[in-house]
Amino acid sequence: MAIATFSDIVAALANDDPEAEAVLLGEGLACRRAQVGPTVFFRGLIEFSNVCRKDCHYCGIRRSNRRVQRYTMDPEAIADDAALAFEQQYGSIVLQSGERTDRVFVDFVEDVLLRIHRRTSGLLGVTLSLGEQSVDTYRRWFEAGAHRYLLRIETSQEALYRSIHPSDHRFQNRLDSLDRLRSIGYQVGTGVMIGIPGQTVEDLARDVLFFEAQDIDMLGMGPFIVHQDTPMADAEDSEALRAWRFHLALRMVAVCRLYLKDVNIAASTAMQALHPQGREMALQAGANIIMPNVTRVGYREHYQLYDNKPCLTESPGDCRDCIRARIRSVGDEPGDLSWGDSPHYARRVLDPLLARDVSPGRVSEPDDA
Ligand code: SAM
Ligand code: SF4
Repeated sequence: MAIATFSDIVAALANDDPEAEAVLLGEGLACRRAQVGPTVFFRGLIEFSNVCRKDCHYCGIRRSNRRVQRYTMDPEAIADDAALAFEQQYGSIVLQSGERTDRVFVDFVEDVLLRIHRRTSGLLGVTLSLGEQSVDTYRRWFEAGAHRYLLRIETSQEALYRSIHPSDHRFQNRLDSLDRLRSIGYQVGTGVMIGIPGQTVEDLARDVLFFEAQDIDMLGMGPFIVHQDTPMADAEDSEALRAWRFHLALRMVAVCRLYLKDVNIAASTAMQALHPQGREMALQAGANIIMPNVTRVGYREHYQLYDNKPCLTESPGDCRDCIRARIRSVGDEPGDLSWGDSPHYARRVLDPLLARDVSPGRVSEPDDA
């Protein structure tokens, strides 16, 4: 199945016939193996703080949710967890938290990065997912050892973006932040939520073109899941709708693999929240990255972005062993102790002459929309 135009993307996303979906996902898997190989890379996810200055309407740890017990882990505890993940063969970790831009936080993250670098002799790859920051902050964290950054655009459609954020959250700052990250030299990841109320398959198809226009290296996407203590608690929800969002997310993974080919695509935790084998199914549809939660048990329950968050009690070792066995059972290889950079990044950096044109914030026009 060729996925080469806007209409191809829309048609593939819209077709929820189970047989057609199975063909699409199978092609996503074959394309993943051909383009980035049979290795599935691990990122140990450390959710080190749920303190956030923002108020995104969908998110369970938004500033206004008074029911959340706020925490920030001690820097040495974060470094301990990172070192433990490294001992357990994780080649890379993701440090994620709510968004803060104050000086104390910026210094704190820099200190954590330097500790992790010392403790693991610079061998552990570090991705950050800490929201919108100034160019100086991004640069300081890059110089302290972070080399990848995940900042989801959430949706590339500005009107839809505005409908799920308060008025002081600026879409343009999200775009500018992606540009800042790339200009510093990070491997840049973005992504969207799938099944946002009011979102159409055409919106999602435009998201795919946005990823192309942004020349992104990594993708993290997942279904929107309702959280009861947010302004979106009343969003239409049912078992059937959750299943529809889950399958649409699987098709989105396959379509992104077939259209973008050599980027890293994460099998997101939100997939597992909607289906016990959700992440493995995403790997079988074209994803090549899995992010087991290695946050120490006790904090995870306070980092609930959406209802029914999975893996609240498993230890990092349990998660890794179980996922490794499942990866091997379908003929793939776990990429232990490897950073697992995206082949797209290698091509973008090593062969800039071949790099695609990237104008700041540019979104391709659909060819035939
Ligand atoms: N604060 C940083 C940021 O917003 O980029 C990083 C952490 S934030 C919790 C990570 C991601 O969680 C967001 O980009 C968003 O896509 C996702 N998320 C938040 N609430 C969600 C929900 N209700 N359903 C699905 N994903 C959600
Ligand atoms: Fe904060 Fe990120 Fe949640 Fe928005 S999505 S409220 S920035 S943690």
